[in-house]
Amino acid sequence: MIYLSNFHSCETSVVINNRLILKKKSLGQNFLIDDNIARKIVRIADINQGDIVWEIGPGSGVLTKFLIEKCRKLYAFEIDNEWFGYLQSLFEQTNLTLINADILQVDFAKYFDGKKVKIVANLPYQITSPLLFKILDNRDLFSSITLMIQDEVADRICAPSGNKEYGKLSIKLQLYYTIKKKFSVPPHVFRPQPKVRSAVVQLFPKQDVPEILNHKQLWDLIDEVFNHRRKMLRVSLKLFLAKNEYEQLLDTSAMDFTRRPEALSIQEFVELSNTIETIKKGA
Ligand code: SAM
Repeated sequence: MIYLSNFHSCETSVVINNRLILKKKSLGQNFLIDDNIARKIVRIADINQGDIVWEIGPGSGVLTKFLIEKCRKLYAFEIDNEWFGYLQSLFEQTNLTLINADILQVDFAKYFDGKKVKIVANLPYQITSPLLFKILDNRDLFSSITLMIQDEVADRICAPSGNKEYGKLSIKLQLYYTIKKKFSVPPHVFRPQPKVRSAVVQLFPKQDVPEILNHKQLWDLIDEVFNHRRKMLRVSLKLFLAKNEYEQLLDTSAMDFTRRPEALSIQEFVELSNTIETIKKGA
C-alpha cells in the first residue's frame, strides 16, 4: 500500500516511500495526493466484482490500489519505466496486469477478452483529445469511461449547442455518449500542482445513436464548418461541396444556412450530412 503522506516534491523529483523518482513534465505527471478524491472517483465509476477495468497512467498507484480491491481484473497502462517498475513490485501477485506502453500506440483488441471494459483514469492532460478519439474509434469495447481531465476540456465536451464551448470534440463525443461532469478538483490536491483546475467526467454509451449514412463525411463536415466557426453555414458549405451539390442542397433542404455551426444540434448535423450523402449518391 502507498502512504501518500510520505510524499514530498521538489522541482525535478518526487520522493514516495523513500524512493526518489524523476518527474517528467512531458508525460503530464501531476500526481493526485488525496486518497479521498481517489476513493470518490472509484466509487462513482461503480466497479463490481465481475468487472474488467483499464487504468491509463497509474503512476504512483493512488487509484490502482482502490481499483484492484473492487474489480475482477485490472489492466494498467503506464508509459514511464520507473513508475512501471515501482508498481510491479508494489502490486505483485494481485489481479493487476501492468503494461509498460504508450496507450496511444496500444492495440486495444489485444487486451479485450469479449467482456466490456470500464475505463478509469487520471489522465495526462496532453493526451486527452487523441485518447478520447481512440476510445471513440474503439467504442464497442467500453461500457463506461470515468476520467479526470482539465476542467475547461470537461466543459467543452459537455457543452450543448448554442454554447461558445460547443465544437468538434463535443459533437463527436456526444453523438455516441451521454456525458456528465461529476465534480471539479482544485490544483492543491496534486504534486506538482497544475496551473488549472481539473474535473471528473463520465461517459456512458448511448443506445439511440441516429443513423449515419457516411461517417467520414459527417466527421469532415463538422471539421470544415468549425474551422470557419464564425462564418455562416452557407459560406463554409460552399467550400466543402462541389458547385452542383451546393446548389442542390440549397434548393432541397429546409435548413436555415444563415446560421453559424454552433447553433446546430447534433441531430441537425447528422441530418445535414445524410442529405449531402443522398445528393452525392444521386449526382
Ligand atoms: N494515476 C496517477 C494519479 O492519479 O496520481 C498518475 C496520473 S498522472 C496525471 C498521468 C500518468 O500517466 C503518469 O504516470 C504518466 O507517466 C502516465 N502517462 C503519460 N503519458 C502516457 C501515455 N501516453 N500512455 C500511458 N501512460 C502515460
